[in-house]
Amino acid sequence: MSGNVVAYTNGNIITMNPAQPRADAMAVRDGRILVIGSRSTVEAAIEDAATLEDLDGKTVVPGFNDCHMHVLPYGMQLGQVDLTPSAVESIADLCRVLAQSAAITRSGDWVRGRGYNHDLLAEKRHPTRSDLDQASLVHPVVVSHTSGHVLSCNGRALQTAGIDRNTVSPPGGEIEHEADGEPTGVLKETAMPLLVRAIPPPSVETARDAILLAMTALAKDGITSASDASTGHDQPAGREMAAYRMAVETGELRGRITLMPQIIYVAPPGSEDVAAPTDYDVGDRPDWLRIGATKIFSDGAITTRTAALRRPYQDSAGRGLPTWDQETLTSMVGRAHTAGWQIAIHAMGDHAIEMTLNAYGAAQNLHSRVDARHRIEHCSLPDHELRDRIRSLAVVPVVQPELLARFGDSYVAGLGIDRAANAMPVGWLRERGVPVAFSSDRPVVSGSPLFGISSAILRRTAQGVVLGSGHAVAAEDALRAYTEGSALATFSEQDKGYLAPGYLADFAVLDQDVTKIQAHEITDIRILKTVVGGTVVYQA
Ligand SMILES: [Zn+2]
Repeated sequence: MSGNVVAYTNGNIITMNPAQPRADAMAVRDGRILVIGSRSTVEAAIEDAATLEDLDGKTVVPGFNDCHMHVLPYGMQLGQVDLTPSAVESIADLCRVLAQSAAITRSGDWVRGRGYNHDLLAEKRHPTRSDLDQASLVHPVVVSHTSGHVLSCNGRALQTAGIDRNTVSPPGGEIEHEADGEPTGVLKETAMPLLVRAIPPPSVETARDAILLAMTALAKDGITSASDASTGHDQPAGREMAAYRMAVETGELRGRITLMPQIIYVAPPGSEDVAAPTDYDVGDRPDWLRIGATKIFSDGAITTRTAALRRPYQDSAGRGLPTWDQETLTSMVGRAHTAGWQIAIHAMGDHAIEMTLNAYGAAQNLHSRVDARHRIEHCSLPDHELRDRIRSLAVVPVVQPELLARFGDSYVAGLGIDRAANAMPVGWLRERGVPVAFSSDRPVVSGSPLFGISSAILRRTAQGVVLGSGHAVAAEDALRAYTEGSALATFSEQDKGYLAPGYLADFAVLDQDVTKIQAHEITDIRILKTVVGGTVVYQA
């Protein structure tokens, strides 16, 4: 038998394969699983030359597959100066680390910091222009608050963006001013883009490095595959794709990537144009980089009260706003569907989900396709009728259970407990055979799959409110949604989601069995090792 064979023995292997749910040994060759089963079965199938690795009773699961996150934006954020409470305690601290970064930044380039929390700084306030001028007068400096809803910048940044005492705050936002009328540097909500749009996009090399950084960080969480759920969001899709291709070419990528180009490139609104999936050049290593669904936004978010609802929010005047009218949405979906695309539509509110299902139904009437496997991203508030339509149209809901834990209290405030308790009805959908996929939406939230799994079981908000315990799932089902479910959602179920002969050798070694401990203890599980294609990409 040729090729390097590694045999893993003495493990608690959760395969997710219904034909063989558990195994204690497996052998890997050429990046794929050669044989899996009992130790004697595996030993009989390999030669003495195999490298043996004793798993010491530890648990092995298929690698987590985060089929909706934002790879490049996450990596760009990781490259910014860390201003989280574990890194800085005061505004003086914050200015010191930014000054250090400025000292090694090319003259005139932006210095960016992320994640400060004014409540936890000694001064208990936001840093201002005059504070940040101490970090640098030469470089534009901008720092973002942990909430993502406030940022602050220095004088050079204000000047570069053309924001001065005469700039008017846009509706829904605020440019904070001193008593003398000069801006303080603090910008809130819709005022933030006035500054952010002045920041030049990263060079393709910087973007490549950010992608590598992101995948290395994901490997620490046991993630072996990720989907970039909005390729072309910050700069043209072709430019971002070039950076992804370059990341693959380095040979240093720690996980596999599926790109989801935005619909505006694929089937633009108000036109008859449509691109085919094969029109995109993602190189020739499809195991590492491939094109997935095209991405459409159909509404906003519940936390910002912009998710499109049938009935109004209870704490704000509106009911959100769909991104497109039905005709435009149906046209884009119809063209992409007919051209052979899988489609993934962001739809949180029930009104947006209804419009999405209308568009999918119309597309199938126009051009019938078997197993189109269109997706609804977030799928937060489907009522019973919409859930039935999801099932009959064979649509895959792609859910982020961590959002319940992080934003559940905001859902209760905005929707009332009854509607909030029916958010992400994962248990209902799974019981009726709808394949649900889990993901994170990282960097919107921290994105640990183990945290997501625990959230799907507990459905508990930060303040301890349990949202619809009837929609909770068992640990095994949550694990399935993060492995088999996301493999289905990305049309990669022939390669991923199971640990079975012929499947990619993508797996994580955990220090405890997710299915055998209390749900609140799952977040304490340590990832000991992450393996992609038989290669160790992370080791604790
Ligand atoms: Zn997203």
